[in-house]
Amino acid sequence: MSPVIAANGLHHVTAYAADAARNLDFYTRVLGLRLVKRTVNFDDPGTYHLYYGDGVGTPGTVLTFFPIAHAAPGRVGIGETQETAFRIPRGSIGWWAHRLVALGVPHEAPVSVFGETTLRLRDPDGMMLALVGVEDEGGDAWTGAEVPAEHAITGFHGVTLLLAEADATARILADVFGYAETGREGSAIRFAAGAALGRFVTLRAVGGFLRGRPGAGSVHHIAFRAADDAAQAAMVARLETAHGVRVTEQRDRNYFRSVYFREPGGVLFEIATDAPGFAVDEPVEALGHALMLPPGLEAHRTRIEAVLPALA
Ligand code: ZN
Repeated sequence: MSPVIAANGLHHVTAYAADAARNLDFYTRVLGLRLVKRTVNFDDPGTYHLYYGDGVGTPGTVLTFFPIAHAAPGRVGIGETQETAFRIPRGSIGWWAHRLVALGVPHEAPVSVFGETTLRLRDPDGMMLALVGVEDEGGDAWTGAEVPAEHAITGFHGVTLLLAEADATARILADVFGYAETGREGSAIRFAAGAALGRFVTLRAVGGFLRGRPGAGSVHHIAFRAADDAAQAAMVARLETAHGVRVTEQRDRNYFRSVYFREPGGVLFEIATDAPGFAVDEPVEALGHALMLPPGLEAHRTRIEAVLPALA
């Protein structure tokens, strides 16, 4: 069967953090991303949901967090995202390595992964990140206060999933999301989509290893892009008929519309629409400044604001 869907790549990645202010400082000041939305977890409104991305939160640039104060650290294992990688200009690896040293951010010496220079680091909760040097394709990077445009992160490079075995997950990547295998290196199999942003999903099959344990620094789910509701519905139909995978009802996340399913390898996948985007409830120039609540929670704003921790 040929894929019915255009391969659009990743939409966003969502992870857990502990301290909200520390998370905000790291992603906006240290990594130079823009806070594009300050809202709450719609399923748990006493918890922030912070969205970081490029200047407008283009799909494929958006990393989001549920910060839960004093959350125990997670443990990466089977059925989880092991590493989340960002794209930076190829010539900027040295600049970033110097910056991480200067700021005391834990990191490793750059290595070559599938032929690309990769600088691995950890965020304050121990989340495994990487900066990958790529040919500049003219992305719309956000220019943060300390990161000049010439070195800025331009979005996701991709994610690496840790699995017991890769076959069933690989079939879904290819058949439902239109990814194609582009290479193998050790236990890693790399798949690519057509989109420049969030192009890669790498499957690392490690057999019997410990399962992941959710907690601060662990990824909750990854989301793939659907151009619109019709494209999402086509992916859902393909999942159910060809792969026997059931998905949730569509949920309105205010900035996109989503369905969720647990893929055969145990990773929580989401399919999120590109529309309506982050400017639906505040102007682009004001993104991230104020706490935005969906209509159903607006009546409880005072109570919600009282329980949320202060952000610097
Ligand atoms: Zn999501």
